[in-house]
Amino acid sequence: MRKRIAILGSTGSIGVSTLDVVERNPERFEVVGLTAGSNIDLLEKQIKRFNPKVVAVYNEEQAERLKKRIGNRVPEIYSGSEGITEVSILPEVELVISAIVGAAGLIPTISAIRKGKDIALANKETLVMAGEIVMKLVKEKGVNIIPVDSEHSAIFQSLTGEKKGDIKRLILTASGGPFRNMPVSMLKKVSLKDALKHPNWNMGQKITIDSATMMNKGLEVIEARWIFGVDASCINVLIHPQSIIHSLVEFIDGSIIAQLGIPDMRTPISYALNYPGRVETSLPSLDLAETGKLTFEKPDTEKFPSLKYAFQALDEGGTMPAVLNAANEIAVQAFLKEEIAFTDIPGVILKTMDGHRSSAANILEDVLEADTWARDKAEEIITSKIL
Ligand code: NAD
Ligand code: MG
Repeated sequence: MRKRIAILGSTGSIGVSTLDVVERNPERFEVVGLTAGSNIDLLEKQIKRFNPKVVAVYNEEQAERLKKRIGNRVPEIYSGSEGITEVSILPEVELVISAIVGAAGLIPTISAIRKGKDIALANKETLVMAGEIVMKLVKEKGVNIIPVDSEHSAIFQSLTGEKKGDIKRLILTASGGPFRNMPVSMLKKVSLKDALKHPNWNMGQKITIDSATMMNKGLEVIEARWIFGVDASCINVLIHPQSIIHSLVEFIDGSIIAQLGIPDMRTPISYALNYPGRVETSLPSLDLAETGKLTFEKPDTEKFPSLKYAFQALDEGGTMPAVLNAANEIAVQAFLKEEIAFTDIPGVILKTMDGHRSSAANILEDVLEADTWARDKAEEIITSKIL
């Protein structure tokens, strides 16, 4: 019997790679639902190829346009954020691939967990914003949350058959981004084009900028804290520019287990889709002799303070990580519109966090309220230019 899946964010970088993995193993998966933000041209192609029963488009006008193009034929077309959530809870779906970018992924992901669906999680923002709430629900519903993020997939795989109590450290690797070797004094002037050039991975715009500021690693530290249920003090970041070792786990006896592979998201996606089994991907093998050298460095948090702010937010807990995430989303959007400089991104985050007194995040409303507050605050900081 084929595994019935829904892909939230099917037109994005992870969504497209997920469908590529599905296409390589058509006998294993049935695509029941797809969702997109606004790219109906690509969604239409995906509909023709994969025949989903239901799709949703966040942008209402684009949803109407798609309906006109498709007419009364299958699939059913929903719209808006409610429409996306409808797809995430379709009764026949067993596994939801959560690959929307940013806070927009939170509600559909939580809704799917509430309905008892397994989650292949790419949308790290869900756990950054509401890690405690989400993991409590995961436990309560007895669902699997399988990481798609390459670092977390590496740790997840390295922990197979191990006891949580035997973990000493989780070591998240990071490429260091395109500005790893740039002197601090020059960072202020980096262009949007340069920031969008990631050395090893081809990803969506937001995560590419997050990788350049190292906030991506900060968000991943928070994601790891919740997925693996370890203390922040047990999570280290290691710069590894070749992105071959995807992450490592050190155990109490001094053994370190790591997972390696070519930097291609289809490997962790395939693992998450086929968990607990493995399936042939026909991707090229990693040739370590060809790679030659694997190198490592300490992260420079003076140059890339966003990583430090993420640890601070995790340490403060409660609503602070949601505030960090929202301020980052607003700052990255402003940088993408070339309204602020690259080095203003951490400035906006710090100022927003400074203005927030963290409170308990017991229910989703606490998180959503902090998210809204932080977005307004970050906008205000940007428009008043008090950076
Ligand atoms: P992307 O920008 O390429 O794609 C995002 C998808 O979300 C698109 O389908 C878009 O239409 C949809 N979307 C955007 N805003 C939306 C909204 N408001 N409502 C509904 N849908 C919306 O992003 P991506 O690079 O594929 O990343 C997706 C997620 O996966 C992010 O959380 C990212 O951190 C994580 N991730 C990505 C990679 C990668 O290699 N790209 C690796 C690890 C983790
Ligand atoms: Mg990652």
